Amino acid sequence: MQVKLQPKKNFGHSQGCVRCGRKRGLVRRYGIRMCRQCFRETAEKIGFRKYS
Ligand SMILES: [Zn+2]
Repeated sequence: MQVKLQPKKNFGHSQGCVRCGRKRGLVRRYGIRMCRQCFRETAEKIGFRKYS
């Protein structure tokens, strides 16, 4: 019997912001999932420009 590991176990889909857990205003871009507020802060830190 083979047991396959599931690396994406806790990185599921029915969660909110990865930073604060909020589910409103989620931004799912660049492979990250954050609410707008966290995204904005994080984006500035990691060097993303603000596109609108
Ligand atoms: Zn957030």
